[in-house]
Amino acid sequence: MSNGKSILIDTSLCTACRGCQVACKQWNNLPGTKTKQIGTYQNPQDFSASTWKLVRFADGKNGNGKPYWYFFSDMCRHCMEPPCADTIQGFVKDGVIRDETTGAVVYTGKTKTVPFEKVRASCPYDIPRQNLKTKVMAKCTMCIDRIKNDRVPACVQSCPTGAMIFGDRSEILVMAEKRVAELKKSYPKAMALNPEDVRVIFIVTDDPQKYWKYATV
Ligand code: SF4
Ligand code: SF4
Repeated sequence: MSNGKSILIDTSLCTACRGCQVACKQWNNLPGTKTKQIGTYQNPQDFSASTWKLVRFADGKNGNGKPYWYFFSDMCRHCMEPPCADTIQGFVKDGVIRDETTGAVVYTGKTKTVPFEKVRASCPYDIPRQNLKTKVMAKCTMCIDRIKNDRVPACVQSCPTGAMIFGDRSEILVMAEKRVAELKKSYPKAMALNPEDVRVIFIVTDDPQKYWKYATV
């Protein structure tokens, strides 16, 4: 494989418009989910077999009493060495495709024969979900069908602020490094999350755990 593709998600530019979340549903023909208001703007509350992209909202107070409000446009990281793929392949051949050109990690219908909880537990970012009726596992595909037709993923296409960028991995890595250096001037804790290990690279300006418990380094 070449170096493949990557997505950069700069949370400092995200306004939580949720265009990416809606675009993902629209492109992948995923049905809406019944939800209820529980005192947060985040909606729905979690991923499901029909929600593969989710803007997480987190708010609280810093040690100095100042409030923070962070947005985290969560999705599969398309890991360079995906642990979920190792787990699936331990049970069934061809349950997951690792695309040669892009590096996208894509589940197939054969995942229905694999114990779901084992796959979910093997993902460091708690991404995989299961269709309760068909038992097939589901998550972001990197919009592989769009990429193969020279289009960027639907979430990236929809982002109005430039918070999401798609491109060749080597170029995305350089962009991430430059952007972190720039942000560090104002936000000393700015960092990219696991850029060597994942294709979907988040940039945060504060302790990643304030954004989301699975926003790990
Ligand atoms: Fe698999 Fe989780 Fe990595 Fe996505 S983030 S490729 S679901 S291990
Ligand atoms: Fe944030 Fe862009 Fe998604 Fe809107 S489309 S929620 S600005 S990442």
